[in-house]
Amino acid sequence: MAAEKQSFDAVIVGAGPAGVTCAVWMARLGFKPALVDAAAGVGGLCRFNPYVDDWNPSLPGATGEQLADNLALSLGEAGVTPWLSRTVTEARVAPVGVSVVLAHGPSTVMGRFLVLATGVRPRSLPGLNGPLPAVLVGPGRHILAQDFRGLRVAVLGGGDNAFGAALYAMERGAARVRVYARNVRAQRQLVAQVPAQQVVRGDYVVDPHRRRVDAEAFDLIMVFYGWEPCIGFARALGLRCCARGFIETDPATAQTSTRGVYAIGEVTRRQHPCVVTAMADGITAAKAMQARIEAGR
Ligand SMILES: Cc1cc2nc3c(=O)[nH]c(=O)nc-3n(C[C@H](O)[C@H](O)[C@H](O)COP(=O)(O)OP(=O)(O)OC[C@H]3O[C@@H](n4cnc5c(N)ncnc54)[C@H](O)[C@@H]3O)c2cc1C
Repeated sequence: MAAEKQSFDAVIVGAGPAGVTCAVWMARLGFKPALVDAAAGVGGLCRFNPYVDDWNPSLPGATGEQLADNLALSLGEAGVTPWLSRTVTEARVAPVGVSVVLAHGPSTVMGRFLVLATGVRPRSLPGLNGPLPAVLVGPGRHILAQDFRGLRVAVLGGGDNAFGAALYAMERGAARVRVYARNVRAQRQLVAQVPAQQVVRGDYVVDPHRRRVDAEAFDLIMVFYGWEPCIGFARALGLRCCARGFIETDPATAQTSTRGVYAIGEVTRRQHPCVVTAMADGITAAKAMQARIEAGR
């Protein structure tokens, strides 16, 4: 792929539901988008969701993985070829438009507009920079692939994912499951299914290397500490973010505090992050860019 100094109407970083939808709409509106993703496939977090997505009324019975396949199909039909396995390491506002730097090249891509659609990654334990054996971080296929039979399992976190995973491990033959929650935020019906004596509320001390929580030994630790936005590469843009680090946008246009830069999907401060709201954001940004291009601004 020869990406040296190519120029596009919009450079869209992230090929999850938000970025793909934005690219498809841009292409169908007659513009030239570049869609870049660090991953080897299209779909973002959906690629790691092997479960049926009951929250998308337009695709009953489809799993997240099937949804990811559909997103790739839609891109193909709109004539957009995504640039995969290309991590964006830097984004800047250029004298005219914006520029992003891609790793493994190196190459620079120019655009009239920049769209940040880089989503989130699961928060890990503080100080833990890489994977550790028998420490699983965040939900997804790796939980499905885990054999829980006979294991002593500690689940860290107080949200839906933590309680859902605890129930999952119990149903699949774990010898002991204990949930450690500094505060419990999960839906009541989930919490009610985990026996109260298996839930430790309040502060606790974790030693992930020795797999101990409050000095008690476990075979497996699962961490569900929520999510953090993937925006390290965009620091130079000086975007206004909320206290939790998510990008602030104008809901009517998806425009950020930096002119020419849009942000869509879970990387933004979202009341209800999900596939459908991410896709809606993608459309909002595409239409806002169309309006600006056609008005010559
Ligand atoms: C296990 C699981 C189950 C879920 N179940 C549901 C469900 O049932 N229903 C539902 O609606 N939602 C569900 N979700 C949430 C849903 O997947 C997300 O809301 C949605 O994927 C967010 O879309 P997005 O496009 O904003 O970001 P993402 O899907 O996270 O895509 C972001 C993309 O940006 C790329 N990226 C990040 N940084 C860079 C960089 N520097 N350079 C290049 N590319 C980069 C990533 O590789 C990724 O592909 C689930 C998520 C998980 C993990």
